[in-house]
Amino acid sequence: MSWELDSPVLLDLLEQQKIPLWSNERKENDPLVFGGGPVLTANPEPLAPFFDVILLGDGEDLLPTFIDLVNKIKPLPRSEKLQALAQVPGIYIPKLYVPEYTPEGALKDIKPIHSNIPTSIAKQTWKGNTLSHSTVITPESAWPEIHMVEVVRSCPELCRFCMASYLTLPFRSSSLEDGLIPAVEKGVTATNRIGLLGASVSQHPQFNELLTWLSQDRFNEIRLSISSVRASTVSSKMTKVLKSRGCKSITIAIESGSERMRKIINKKLCEEEIFAAANYASEGGLKRLKLYGMVGLPTEEDDDVEATAELLLRLKEKTRSLRFSLGVSTFVPKAHTPFQWHGIQPVAQKRLKILAKRLRPKGIELRPESYGWSIIQGLISRSDRRLAPVIAAVRVEQNTLGGWKKAYKATVEGANPYLRNIPTPMGNLPSWEEVIHEQWSTSRILPWTHLEGPIKPEKLIEHHYQALNQNLELN
Ligand code: SF4
Repeated sequence: MSWELDSPVLLDLLEQQKIPLWSNERKENDPLVFGGGPVLTANPEPLAPFFDVILLGDGEDLLPTFIDLVNKIKPLPRSEKLQALAQVPGIYIPKLYVPEYTPEGALKDIKPIHSNIPTSIAKQTWKGNTLSHSTVITPESAWPEIHMVEVVRSCPELCRFCMASYLTLPFRSSSLEDGLIPAVEKGVTATNRIGLLGASVSQHPQFNELLTWLSQDRFNEIRLSISSVRASTVSSKMTKVLKSRGCKSITIAIESGSERMRKIINKKLCEEEIFAAANYASEGGLKRLKLYGMVGLPTEEDDDVEATAELLLRLKEKTRSLRFSLGVSTFVPKAHTPFQWHGIQPVAQKRLKILAKRLRPKGIELRPESYGWSIIQGLISRSDRRLAPVIAAVRVEQNTLGGWKKAYKATVEGANPYLRNIPTPMGNLPSWEEVIHEQWSTSRILPWTHLEGPIKPEKLIEHHYQALNQNLELN
């Protein structure tokens, strides 16, 4: 699972396969339902009651280990199978852990039910020199007919809100000779569309060599797509090669037009680099520069958002040959990042409107992500397993912001029929406000406390306070 908002879809899939939705309702001969991916690795708890097994981290080694063991223990009863699987690093069996809550409803602890079950589970990291690529190419996929090649995994930049960086560290790149070239060669036998994928593809140490290799005449018919690139790595060569391979635009993430804000979030990016990237895009013959930004970042003020609008307007003024668009999302706290303790700021909604008002009349396309759906993302990313009955109810009610609020309220009031599916005492559900919007103390027991990410909690706290101190220095 790679997107919090897919959560209700999981239940549809189980139902379509006639598999009981709740792990505690599955009988001896029911399948073992397992899952993985960024959402489950970061904070699996809201979905934990629907899974028998959750795989934390990279699948390259973990998945074959899991499948081999499942085959080996086939004759065992279901409960013994789960106990055996729980011994494998990176395999989390939610049913074997019980949360405890204070009378006020705060999470106090999450403990294994037997002394022979590990108290914490560590995310697994693939250390090989190749990464993944598509195995199925179909017009039915999110990126139709594209052969995706993973160029890098994680990102070394450590922007303080970024799960794609913090949760997947260390930064790794696929070997050009053993990984990328064979993957592209394989892809071009099936399609003429190749996508280069990764949080920071242009930071691959041999990215220029890859571009040179892709410039060969035999690839003239290939259409290349590339995920967003770091502004400081955009070059004349990059934009020319991309243009020659059918690209019309590149995307850079600036997050904010305010230098102050970029320092606080640790986005090591200066204005000159942004203007240089626009120049290279224009010189290379590209038509459009897409930028990504965010509103509602911790410590953000209206002036910072004004600075984003100003920057876009100056870029447009200086590089008239390009069309500009700004995709803008609301900051949502993500587990295992230094900003996990910050809530979603309701003022973000107003700031999305400020950007629309400033930019749209000047011909800059603004593509805002829905504030309402960001709220649901925040709810899922910071909740514990007491959210599961809400997810089940939303599927039946209505998967809209209003539907989520209604289901949450019914659960707080004890009127959610799915509450009976949660075997352990629930404690009082924290308020909607507390989960989504409030600033949490760094001493709070988090729903993912028993799961080890790549960075120790003490280090995350240090990075959290570095940002707050920077804010004091810069004001
Ligand atoms: S540069 Fe992009 S991918 Fe890298 S840490 Fe920052 S936001 Fe994340």
